[in-house]
Amino acid sequence: MVQLKSPRELETMAAGGKIMFAAHEAVRAAVRPGASTLDLDRVCENFIRSHEGATPSFKGLYGFPASICASINEEIVHGIPSAKRVLREGDIISVDIGVFFGGMHTDSARTWPVGPVDADTERLLRVTETSLEAGIEACVIGNHIGDIGAAIEGVVLKGRLTVVRELVGHGVGFQMHEEPQVPNHGKPKRGMKLVPGLTLAIEPMVNLGTAATRTLSDKWTVVTADGKRSAHFEHTVAITEQGPRVLTR
Ligand code: MG
Ligand code: MG
Repeated sequence: MVQLKSPRELETMAAGGKIMFAAHEAVRAAVRPGASTLDLDRVCENFIRSHEGATPSFKGLYGFPASICASINEEIVHGIPSAKRVLREGDIISVDIGVFFGGMHTDSARTWPVGPVDADTERLLRVTETSLEAGIEACVIGNHIGDIGAAIEGVVLKGRLTVVRELVGHGVGFQMHEEPQVPNHGKPKRGMKLVPGLTLAIEPMVNLGTAATRTLSDKWTVVTADGKRSAHFEHTVAITEQGPRVLTR
């Protein structure tokens, strides 16, 4: 069932989204060679909890043990923070965060370079972020879910990259994952029609090589099947009469 949000609930999500954006900036400041993904997790959790009433959504969700998903290089999503996973110069690190505030969830991910990265990786980051913006621009009343995926995939293919298909965006708000699913590929005018009060996590996951994925034996970490790098950018977006409203920046 799709659950629409009232104007008041949107304002609560926007307040949580502000904490989210600042949490990403706090993590970004801690991204450097030698930092572990557990260090980043601690920074994020402490930052979120320093705001009265805010908690990390991911901790305990489906049994996930940490506050962030931290996915390095060929890891696409759901990497578990660990003291043993240490960043090196030239790596990329995808950080996915959920914030629960005032009874509402927001969801946002960023991929950061660790110092200078190679040209292919720069293209991967640039194109993935641009594809997210194209997906957000498609979040207008009268469009359909398929228009979002079509916009994202168009940018990705033009950038000579591939879209992960096994993992999708989703409704978000009362729960972390709500209906509808929002694939990062699709056909215009297909799927549910976008209406005011719908809140979506738009989250392209984009690969340098094959779109195919596999899951590691930890049962969480999803990696590219060919070991090439992957990037992930995500915002929580509300459909409004005034156009798309990004709640997490
Ligand atoms: Mg996320
Ligand atoms: Mg999400």
